[in-house]
Amino acid sequence: MKTRPNIPWAKAEFWGSEEKYVIDALRSSWISGGPYVERLEAACAEFLGVPHAIAVSNGTAALDLSFLALDIQPGDEIIVPGFAFMAAANLALQKGAIPVFCDVDPLTWCIQPKAVEKLISKQTRAIVAVHSYGNMCDVPGLVDLAAAHDIALIEDAAEAFGSKMDSLLAGTQGHINTFSFHATKTVTTGEGGLVTTHDSDLAEKMRLYRSHGLRRHRHYWHELPGHNFRLTNLQAAMGVAQMEKIETILDHRVRMYQRYKNRIQSMPGTQMQMITETCEAAIWAVALRLDATSFPQGRDEVMSALSSRGIETRPGFQPPAEMDYFGPTSVPVSENLGRWVISLPSYPSLTDSEIDYICNELAKLSKAG
Ligand SMILES: *Cc1c(COP(=O)(O)O)cnc(C)c1O
Repeated sequence: MKTRPNIPWAKAEFWGSEEKYVIDALRSSWISGGPYVERLEAACAEFLGVPHAIAVSNGTAALDLSFLALDIQPGDEIIVPGFAFMAAANLALQKGAIPVFCDVDPLTWCIQPKAVEKLISKQTRAIVAVHSYGNMCDVPGLVDLAAAHDIALIEDAAEAFGSKMDSLLAGTQGHINTFSFHATKTVTTGEGGLVTTHDSDLAEKMRLYRSHGLRRHRHYWHELPGHNFRLTNLQAAMGVAQMEKIETILDHRVRMYQRYKNRIQSMPGTQMQMITETCEAAIWAVALRLDATSFPQGRDEVMSALSSRGIETRPGFQPPAEMDYFGPTSVPVSENLGRWVISLPSYPSLTDSEIDYICNELAKLSKAG
């Protein structure tokens, strides 16, 4: 009997001591806060080379904390990419702020300082640079731009844990930077997230907002109207184990990406996301743009054809105009990417032969011949 492969788009994988540490946390009875949370923060601070790494309940809470610490107010404008996961844009709306969509570069699919600069107004308070799929925005350019206009830079590095630019890691150069440890992400705790900063005052504020505005030594005294964005010790235990194997995880991602790249670069009618010059990317999801002439059936048809061959894929990020609560936008490149980008199964244990199978099946669907 022929077996049909079943290749998921993402897969949470365990590399060493996850089970041991989670059981240890459980038996210790430290199931809310606890020593693994502090160990995870220390491991991330060390790996990223930042003085402050604060673990939180998820990547969206991490963004929320950044907005709270930066005191984002109703009417403030936040510049966000037109093509990216929409967490920061949604949060801006929730705070009564205005997400101002910046179209992305057609090759790297990231926002560029020149395009961002055109959108800066008197109301602009922050730029959220999303490093989509593990590629990176021009961080040095955005750092300079933010400084010149006295606005905050937030790197949303949820998809770029381990990516580097000029040997500086993603999620270390903004005023505040955020990560997600969701099940699909490069380092995972199931649900979880992290904020980093070099600024002690912002770090202090975020620690307070994370936990009801409470300080440990004084019961029921709130310094500020905080949230509960805490990560549990049980989840952090998993993260500590993952951080012990971070180099292995990243090496496998590099292997996976190279294998795909070798196959897809020569495939007519496809264009992979171009990695920004000077970026050494730890690719989170391999993504490419299909060409309408070679794939006249459309991206969605390609996705269902691959699905019937046991290959799970995802479409590109939907542009903001598709979600009518954002109102009208002018981001033509992002709209085109939303229609034509497909991302392929991407996880460290994906084998070379599985990648070859995926690429062969994709090539068969091309009319380019
Ligand atoms: C995953 C992701 C988030 C949200 O993280 P959660 O942990 O799911 O809340 C935010 N931004 C980007 C770019 C993401 O990829």
